[in-house]
Amino acid sequence: MNNNIHLPGFEAFVITNSLQFEDCVHIHVELKIQPHRCPVCHRWTNKVHDYRKQKVKHTKMFTRHTYIFYRKRRYKCEHSDCPKKGFPEDNPLVERYQRQSVEFKQAMGLEVIHGKNFADVAARMGTSPTTVMRRFDAIGSSMLNETKELPSTIAIDEYKGDAGGEKYQTIIADPVDRRTLDILPDRKKDTLKAYLHHHGQKVNKVVMDMSQSFKAAVDQALGGPIVIADRFHFCRYIHWALERVRIKVQKEFIDYDRKKCKRMKHAFHKKPEDLTSKQRWYLDYYLSQSDYLREAYQLKEAYRHWFEEAKALGADHLKVIKDRLYEFYDLVRSSGVVEFQKAIETLQNWQKEIINSFAFDLNNGYIEGLNNQTKVIKRNAFGFQRFDRFRMRILLHHQYKRINTRVA
Ligand SMILES: [Zn+2]
Repeated sequence: MNNNIHLPGFEAFVITNSLQFEDCVHIHVELKIQPHRCPVCHRWTNKVHDYRKQKVKHTKMFTRHTYIFYRKRRYKCEHSDCPKKGFPEDNPLVERYQRQSVEFKQAMGLEVIHGKNFADVAARMGTSPTTVMRRFDAIGSSMLNETKELPSTIAIDEYKGDAGGEKYQTIIADPVDRRTLDILPDRKKDTLKAYLHHHGQKVNKVVMDMSQSFKAAVDQALGGPIVIADRFHFCRYIHWALERVRIKVQKEFIDYDRKKCKRMKHAFHKKPEDLTSKQRWYLDYYLSQSDYLREAYQLKEAYRHWFEEAKALGADHLKVIKDRLYEFYDLVRSSGVVEFQKAIETLQNWQKEIINSFAFDLNNGYIEGLNNQTKVIKRNAFGFQRFDRFRMRILLHHQYKRINTRVA
């Protein structure tokens, strides 16, 4: 008997033995005899019916997996007119019919929100992935604070999640508070429309990429709110145009230069002041090899100047921003660069929404960041192919990320 051992969480118990093995710890415990009320007739008894040894998985102690061998007592109602024979004593360690302690289950619940995937959490907690997954399914929805009503400004973007048999999901975020609000199972117009119809009665501003189907869903469900094109997405059309030109032009280069030019592709898109001297050299060299490529590069730079200026001018100078954009269009039209001419067609189609991005200074950069943060969830994602789990995992992760919950 080592009654002098004191373990946090076991104050109520008598520790009868503790054994350390190479990879685990066994702790034998029992409770002191105490009067209990019969669950049927509610009269007191302290008469012992029998004992059963129960093996309970607990959180790690001394960095080892820990099992509690709980000598569980059953009491007996002494009243001859009561039908109740044996009933188990009250205990703070383990719930009825469970093989894991209350504390272990809590720890696993928190781990699973922040761990990479079920298999990883299972390995660290010394249990099976299926057990972790079941735990997640059991606690997930009660921990999640579901968004019932969307705020007045939302951001919508597609999200490559590969869940529930759909490559893309739709993510709904709050671009002001930078919070993830919901994830929809696909990127179909009708799915988004139905969701907004249900939850979006307060929404009057929507930041989004330039997707016709999102735009139609938003207009139809919300009756034409202010739509704001996301900056990252409209700038991308210009960079794509420059990429197309580079790829077309470098095909004519000799083998060495074609490969080198491809390898130096980031130099074409960076701000000139951010280039390394090596990038600067190769950029100048390849621009000197092709008038067409040089012209495309200059158009990209002209666009960048417009964009930087528009950001600096802001909401009070929308007229100037628009005039300068028209000047950029003229420059593109008078150039012979067809790739840019195609790109500005898209910008023209979304011009009102693009100008809105300077009127309201809103963007969904938050979602772009999210796409990178959650890539880790998708990899080795045992159990996350199911959309409901995938959604739950991402929403819980973001809801609880400010809370440090690493326990095991
Ligand atoms: Zn009784």
